[in-house]
Amino acid sequence: MKTRTIDTTVPERALLVQVIIGNTDRAEAEESLAELERLADTAGAEVVGAISQRRDKPTPSFYIGEGKLAEIQLACRNTGANLIIFDNDLSPAQVNNLDMALGIKTIDRTELILQIFARRARSAEAKAQVELAQLQYLISRIPISVKQARFRGGIGMRGPGETPLQLRNEPMRRRIRELQKQLELLQRRREQSRKKNRWPLVCLVGYTNAGKSTLLNTLAHADAFVDDMLFATLDTKTRLLYIDEKQKVLLTDTVGFIRNLPHTLIASFKSTLDVTTQADVLLIVVDASYQYALDHLKVVHQTLAEIGADKVPSIILLNKIDNPSAQTVLPELLKNFPDAIQISALKKIGLDRVKQAIAQKLNSNCLRTSY
Ligand code: GDP
Ligand code: MG
Repeated sequence: MKTRTIDTTVPERALLVQVIIGNTDRAEAEESLAELERLADTAGAEVVGAISQRRDKPTPSFYIGEGKLAEIQLACRNTGANLIIFDNDLSPAQVNNLDMALGIKTIDRTELILQIFARRARSAEAKAQVELAQLQYLISRIPISVKQARFRGGIGMRGPGETPLQLRNEPMRRRIRELQKQLELLQRRREQSRKKNRWPLVCLVGYTNAGKSTLLNTLAHADAFVDDMLFATLDTKTRLLYIDEKQKVLLTDTVGFIRNLPHTLIASFKSTLDVTTQADVLLIVVDASYQYALDHLKVVHQTLAEIGADKVPSIILLNKIDNPSAQTVLPELLKNFPDAIQISALKKIGLDRVKQAIAQKLNSNCLRTSY
């Protein structure tokens, strides 16, 4: 069992398929599909079409209804698609059935995200995290019937937990334990080197595409890899930033948050996000020109709470105010977060206020700890 990688030599032509379950909001569904398109683009595939279907519940065999299968087949023929990406999470059986029925490689959202993570990982820690996530994903895909097979053993048969398939999985489990140990070690080392730092740590967090890397570049004149793609920076990037003539801080970039990121992936990438729990100040960057910016902020706050970083002092930065569509989104954001600072990382607007706010937060932290 192996994750199938997206082949970079032949351009992949992807058809997106989305099943809207129950009474999911239409706008929500459209946004999810738009995000899937950006993810596919990030993975290097060209999106040639999209098909949506609303159903009360998925079918066990293909997830979609059988009538839709023919439509997908036709769409593939017409567009020359050679890859199908589901916005929904599929069971291994469903992937198999779709592969067979359509004769075209089918992947789901989780597999797509895993591939992006795998491509973007550069440091030893990020690579270990990705491998761990992939293995955990593969293990979770072993059909339930196989996991349950051990309960079928009769008298004189092999003991529970020792089916041949589980034995075959043993190398995978061993590798998982190895990786977990390796990650613990890397994390401990990072914490130790962090304790030696003389400078406060400021951490950029926020949704993918919010403008974190752009801000790191303009603030710290760094050459972090900025591009339009999601996850341009899986690895943590750290730069020195002068917030005034005397005071220096370490400014660090993180991998972006993503909507509907499967919980298993959040867990595997915990140590990437772990840096936020050690930060002195968090800069939460939001794309304020984006219609659902408030939803994004909620996800960021939720995720930070999940990893235990919600007690770290934070500053909300409403980015991309140079974009005209920000004007329609800003009022609601400011109503909910009156202390948020409006900036444009691209046009270098409001950056001095960001530095002042960092200095203020750091100083009030010092006051608190000196009591
Ligand atoms: P990240 O994923 O959060 O690191 O986002 P990036 O820094 O890579 O930026 C994503 C996209 O948003 C890029 O195309 C940037 O040029 C663009 N961007 C970033 N900041 C601004 C801004 O202030 N205004 C506008 N209009 N675009 C911006
Ligand atoms: Mg980035």
